[in-house]
Amino acid sequence: MLIAGNWKAYVESGTKAKALYQGVKRLRAKGAHEVVAAPSFPHLGLLAPAKAGKTGSGLAAQDVSVTVGGAETGEVTAGLLRDLGVEYVIVGHSERRARGESDDVILEKVRHVLAHGLTPILCIGEASRDQDAQYLKLVRAQLSTVLEGLSAKERLALVIAYEPVWAIGASEPITAEDLGEMVLYIKKVLGDFMPGRANQKVRILYGGSVAPENARGLAAGTGIDGYLVGRASTDLATFSALVKAVS
Ligand code: PEP
Repeated sequence: MLIAGNWKAYVESGTKAKALYQGVKRLRAKGAHEVVAAPSFPHLGLLAPAKAGKTGSGLAAQDVSVTVGGAETGEVTAGLLRDLGVEYVIVGHSERRARGESDDVILEKVRHVLAHGLTPILCIGEASRDQDAQYLKLVRAQLSTVLEGLSAKERLALVIAYEPVWAIGASEPITAEDLGEMVLYIKKVLGDFMPGRANQKVRILYGGSVAPENARGLAAGTGIDGYLVGRASTDLATFSALVKAVS
């Protein structure tokens, strides 16, 4: 599984970031899962591998600029992230969408990330559920805007993080039954843009209140390929227990 911890702005101390990342590296070394950390931009600079080559850092960025560089004060481009040794970039997190980021902007960001050889973790998910299942249309639209703008090869390089906004920072995650249905639905939408069974190759993560207590149950039979974890990734003992729970 791919288990990515999104530290958001929870981790403010560089000392804590270093200790947490050492723990993530130990979890990666066990080899059972691909464990990834998404620190803040300043901490990415602090944790970036010093060695030439810079592969296998297990580092993800929480966002990326929509611009390619140049006279762009305050922007952090995909090129800058690649140079640091970052491997993954979270794009379209609901906390970015809440600040006005549109599907078109998200597509641009995904394109920059792919053009620099990094892997986008594309976040999609509904704010709430309704009885008429309109939320499925919203998820389809979020996904379709990006898929339409990519080549067949680029589509295959995506990682999708299904994160229902109502389950983020909540007391409970989605039920395994509802998650399994959503994974099937996402694969169906992917299948509309991909030939044959290519849609089966795209990794789908779940995010929203994943914790050591529920991680095993959510993984069982739902078809997910991993997790995007918020709060529970910012405490090493909790994150280690979560990774162990799905091993
Ligand atoms: C998130 O914001 O991506 C997330 C999954 O947060 P939490 O695990 O805290 O619900």
